[in-house]
Amino acid sequence: MSIPTRHRFTDQPDWFVQQELAEGVFHVWEPAYREDYRCNMYVVKGSSSDLILDAGLGLGSLRAYLAPFAPDPLLVLSHGHYDHIGSGFEFERRVIHAAEAEILEAPTHENTYADLLLAEGDFAPKPWDSFTAADWVAEPAPATDLIGEGDVLDLGDRRFTVLHTPGHSWGSICLWDEARGFLFCADTVYSGEIFDHLPCSNIPAYLQSMRRLRELPVHTAFPGHGPILSGDAFRETIDTYLESKQRENT
Ligand SMILES: [Zn+2]
Ligand SMILES: [Zn+2]
Repeated sequence: MSIPTRHRFTDQPDWFVQQELAEGVFHVWEPAYREDYRCNMYVVKGSSSDLILDAGLGLGSLRAYLAPFAPDPLLVLSHGHYDHIGSGFEFERRVIHAAEAEILEAPTHENTYADLLLAEGDFAPKPWDSFTAADWVAEPAPATDLIGEGDVLDLGDRRFTVLHTPGHSWGSICLWDEARGFLFCADTVYSGEIFDHLPCSNIPAYLQSMRRLRELPVHTAFPGHGPILSGDAFRETIDTYLESKQRENT
């Protein structure tokens, strides 16, 4: 592990918390950050490999936190925004869609949208007393591999298919566990305001991705923000979005 010595991590206790949601599926989050902006991270335990989806803000050491129960996971980054990639540099194996690979090579406040969305007033407690948004640093950590539509991530007793679902950003991906009907849908579908207005967003692509996901036999959806969704709640969330866009166009 090569952690740049200059990277500062919080000393706050319990920076991360976790909850088991289903057998072998753990939700990890950063409770000090505002509830609607904090990223849902997921650890999925497999018989031959563990997977982590997304890496939070990088203000606490996610690697150290997970070491006792997922010591050498494959880190999958759903996309390149500041709230998802922070601890990416701590992991040896990290993958992202090719459309966002450049962000990991040279992350900045601008290309990760920290400049638009990250504010020190959104923490309670702050990671350290003098913390300001300008202190947030994403370390350059190029992907060790790229993932795209149709790729299969095999954890032994679980398999995920990568779905490329552009809209929120060009390289947004979801992970689909068809055997269980589990969809990890990151920032593509979640309850709350849908962010389709960022400079990296594209509404026609978003509509297409939403319609595609609507057709999947989803039993449970694990979004990048907000609560876990039943299949019905997932489809309602999509319908609400599609109807709102239709209203805007009529
Ligand atoms: Zn995002
Ligand atoms: Zn996000």
